[in-house]
Amino acid sequence: MSTPQGPSDVIWDITYACPLRCVHCYSESGRRPARQLGHDEMLRVADAISSLRPQAVEFAGGEPLLVKGLLEVARRIGGAGAAVNLYTGGWLFDRGWAEEACRVFSRITVSVDGASAGVHDRIRGRAGSFERAMRTLAILDDLSGERVARGGDPIEFGVDYAVLRANLHELEEFCRTVAPRFPNLRFLTFAAAVPSGLASRQGFAEHELLGFDDLRALVSREHAERLRSLAPRSVRVMTSDNMVLMMHPDLVWRYGFPMLQVEPDGEVRAMPIYEGTVGSLLTEDAGTLWERARERWRDPFVVEALSAVRSMEDWAEATRRIDRHFGTPEVRHRIDHRPPYVPRPRAASAR
Ligand code: SF4
Repeated sequence: MSTPQGPSDVIWDITYACPLRCVHCYSESGRRPARQLGHDEMLRVADAISSLRPQAVEFAGGEPLLVKGLLEVARRIGGAGAAVNLYTGGWLFDRGWAEEACRVFSRITVSVDGASAGVHDRIRGRAGSFERAMRTLAILDDLSGERVARGGDPIEFGVDYAVLRANLHELEEFCRTVAPRFPNLRFLTFAAAVPSGLASRQGFAEHELLGFDDLRALVSREHAERLRSLAPRSVRVMTSDNMVLMMHPDLVWRYGFPMLQVEPDGEVRAMPIYEGTVGSLLTEDAGTLWERARERWRDPFVVEALSAVRSMEDWAEATRRIDRHFGTPEVRHRIDHRPPYVPRPRAASAR
């Protein structure tokens, strides 16, 4: 088994506040307390993350743009040597903020889950979110074009498209009609949604997530080449089945796992997509918490739950078991009060 000294990648969900209400939200943001820290404590968490010497730190959430002082926190981590990357739903972006943000972040990723407002807004749970995301991409596109015209490097910005059954039919359309609207767009990632948070609810995997056969088709060479052939040549097009996020015991044993996930208040998750924390970066040494997280990967309960997975429905079932087993009473209370999943009417289903 590989035994990295620390994670190469740290994901910090810096707030659970969010203006959107995505049907598949892994963090249930916007539907729970934000658990956001004050400014000084955020800087302490930033320093603790930097002590792990990761190559990259991803600011996610929730919507990171809701966090006052975000740029200072990101600058602090960037100053310690890691690449700092931003994930945003694109609802709150404005040009003034973006000019500064593009100097701080190495990469900015905008979540867009469809080629049309109808599909995207339904998944994102808020009317107007597609237009806002398009406007965000237009701002980044303008800024990048201006920077290049001045002789500078382009801004590394792109789209992350969470692939669900409801938007699978719009992947090609996105490459063909949406990507060309932004001549400076750098990358386009089509990554399958996984059973975590709201996406692990009973029934959701069966009706909304791609099955394992669909995942294989999504990442097949022919499919990736087809998407690349439709997108502008300047755009890097990537597909991912996200199976690595399951942390199957055989693979973790053989290759290790490169990611550590931090909750808004500095609590460290043992495994990114599953509930259960191993301590706080505000009170314990970051290296000790990383070691404790790695022990969880070998916990007999985790090994038994994940070794049995043969389908997406099994994976969702394993998530629910792990979440209940390692979640605090507060977590179990939140799980028990999630809105029940209601399948879409068949006519609205695509593909
Ligand atoms: S934008 Fe992200 S954090 Fe906000 S509800 Fe959607 S998936 Fe969750």
